Order: sequence, then C-alpha cells, then structure tokens
Amino acid sequence: TGMDVMDETHDSKLRSWVEVDANSDFPIQNIPFGIYRPKGGGDLHVATAIGDYVLDLAHLDDAGLFNGTEVEGTEVFHEPTLNALMSMGRKAWKEIRLVISRLLRQEASNGDLGNNNDLKNMALISMNEVEMQLPVDIGDYTDFYSSKEHATNVGKMFRPDGEPLLPNWLHLPVAYHGRASSVILSGIDIVRPKGQTKTPDAPAPSFGNSKRLDFELEMGVFIGAGNNLGEAVSVNAAEDHVFGLALVNDWSARDIQTWEYQPLGPFLAKNFATSISPWIITLEALEPFRCSGPKQDPKPLEYLRNTKDSTFDINLGIYLKTENMDSDQLISSSNYNYLYWNMSQQIAHHTITGCNLRTGDLLASGTISGPGKDNRGSMLELSWLWTEPIKLSNGDERKSLDDGDTVTLRGWCQGDGYRIGFGDCTGTILPPN
Ligand code: CA
Repeated sequence: TGMDVMDETHDSKLRSWVEVDANSDFPIQNIPFGIYRPKGGGDLHVATAIGDYVLDLAHLDDAGLFNGTEVEGTEVFHEPTLNALMSMGRKAWKEIRLVISRLLRQEASNGDLGNNNDLKNMALISMNEVEMQLPVDIGDYTDFYSSKEHATNVGKMFRPDGEPLLPNWLHLPVAYHGRASSVILSGIDIVRPKGQTKTPDAPAPSFGNSKRLDFELEMGVFIGAGNNLGEAVSVNAAEDHVFGLALVNDWSARDIQTWEYQPLGPFLAKNFATSISPWIITLEALEPFRCSGPKQDPKPLEYLRNTKDSTFDINLGIYLKTENMDSDQLISSSNYNYLYWNMSQQIAHHTITGCNLRTGDLLASGTISGPGKDNRGSMLELSWLWTEPIKLSNGDERKSLDDGDTVTLRGWCQGDGYRIGFGDCTGTILPPN
C-alpha cells in the first residue's frame, strides 16, 4: 500500500522559510488539512497550517502550483469541506503533501510561493485573522469502546460484583452508532443538557439539568475513500481508507446515561455535543510514529488479525480550567497507543457485515485511558464514580464538570527536533437553557 514507505516529507531536518516555533503543533513535517475563512469574511477554502499561519491551498491552486486537484469537475481546494479532497485516495494525498512540503522548505524561499509576494500576502494568513470551520461533512459517526483500561474501570464501577469486562469485549471492538449532526468544531460552547435521571434509591425518575457532565478523551479517525455496500474492508487494507485523525471530546451526561443505557446503549447522554479539533492530521504525518499496540490475548479471530504495527505513538493530555483559574491545568495524560483495538481492526469489524463506510465518516476510538490513575480519560474515572474529587492548583475541586469549566484536549507526536501536533480541542460548559 506504500504506507510503510517514508519519503522526503518526513525528513526531521526539514525547516520552513515560514518561522515555526520549536514547540509548534504545525512544523513542515505535519501539513494538516482544515477549512477556514478570513475573519473579515470570504469564501471557505481548504488550508494547511504552518507555524502560526494558515496557508490557503485554493489560492495556490489558482496560481497553478498543483496538478490534478479536480474530482468530477469539483476543485477540491475551493470546497467548503474536505470531503472532495478526502475522496481522492492516498496517492493523491501524498502528491499534494509533497507539493506543499517542497513549496514551504527553507531552500524554496526563492521559489514559486516564497518569491511571490502577492501570492504570499494572499495565501499565508495569521491564525489570529481566520476562523476555522468544521472541516468535514460527517455523514455517519460511530463511537468505539476500544480502551481496555477504560472498559475495565467502567466495569469495576458499575458491576463491582462481576467480571469488569463483558464476555465479548476481548473478542471484538465494541461500538455503537452515534449522532453526526451534533459533532461540532472545537471552541463552540457546550450547553448543559437536561434529561431524565433516576438514582438507584429514588422511587421514580425525575427530569432536570444533568448533574454529572463529563468529557471523554478520544481520537477520531476520518474515512477518506469509502467501501461499497456488501464489500468488507480487510484488516490489512483498512488504512488505505483512512484520511487522517483529529481529537474528539465525546461530552457525556453520566446521570442520564446511567438510567437510559440499558438495553440498547447510550442515546441522549451522548447526542447533545461531540467536539473535534479543527485540523485533520494525515496518516502520512503520523507514519514516523507508527508503533505496536498492546498484546492481544486471546488472539483475535482471523478477520481482525493485523500483520503489521497498526497504531501510533500520540501523546494525549486533558486540561481543565475553571472560571476561577487564569490558565488551564493538566489533569490527565494518556496515549493513543494504549488502545487495545486499533483503527484497522475497528474498520475491518465495522465493515465485515458489508456495511459501507463513506467519505467523511467519523470513527471515534472511545475514551482512551491508560494504566495509571493519572491516565484516566474521563471525569467518571478520575473521580472514581464521583467519590474522589480532583484538586486543582487554585483550590477548586471537581468530581464532574461545573458551568464555566473549560476542557481542552491536546495531542502530539514527539519527533526529533519537532512535533506533530493536533491543535486544541476545547469547549466551555454553559448553564442550561
Ligand atoms: Ca465515547
């Protein structure tokens, strides 16, 4: 598939003529894709990020710097979503990445972009002067439950007398079909939902504001090229269908969830908002950070068996800021490679019935918890079923989220002298309507 092959865009020594801070999420090795418009107004275009700038790819295309960026008459960089670009497939994505990398390199400071002041002024825009948009028209959203540590923690809390993992968990990547319409861009506020809840000792359910609002640290996989109805995707070909990844916060109302989830799983507890980070980080950018996941025991059935390393070393952090705090504080750290089931297995399992994935579909990982207390990916786990409050640096304590709290997820791969970052996935809780 070519995915194992690194190319010149991965050279850790590459630097850009655009100034990029050493801790930037967006060095020249990253080249993410997003949708932006200038704050002053204008059309939505496809852009990449370099340092503190967005680079408008539609303007570069108009200047003739790309070849073959049309799909069925659609100019992919002029679209208000990434879907047309995502439908092109890995060969085209790699070619586009190579063109962008070559235009931005230090040695290209006198090149077709670096030496063209008019084009530079138009296409290279400070991030302060743009507003990002939801990058993908998401048709379907599936939420997995692929962290063994998370599933074990939840099992221990909710079924203290039984086995923490249900009998199917080690044999298949458990998931449910989620809600795509309420997947929103990072930065949009989250209104505390209302709903029906019932505590175990209450004689009857009651209606009111959720009192147990939570976050879930997740990673989202965006499908590029889809598969036809009736044709399963094999586990070893699954990555060919992946355009890239973004951070996902699957906001959850735990008290609503506890009462409603049996027998069909979460419904209203999860459907009010799911935040994603604005830039899609491609598998090409992540390739140098490919690694093995946890050992799987028992060995999965044949259709779920990978023959190569299929996950990535992506550091993840959860940051909380209450209304009384000046800046956010790290409350938990995790890693994408803690996931028991990897994205290839998730895709193979999702499609084994012949279910068709389509361009723009979002597959979220499920909460990514790790082995330690400091690696838990939700407030439910961090406070161990609301019994152990988190103590913050300013003296505030939290067992679940209060109005005014801001939760920010961050993710990055640490390279040699650079890092591949995801940009923030953030949201603030507002009081109920
Ligand atoms: Ca979830």
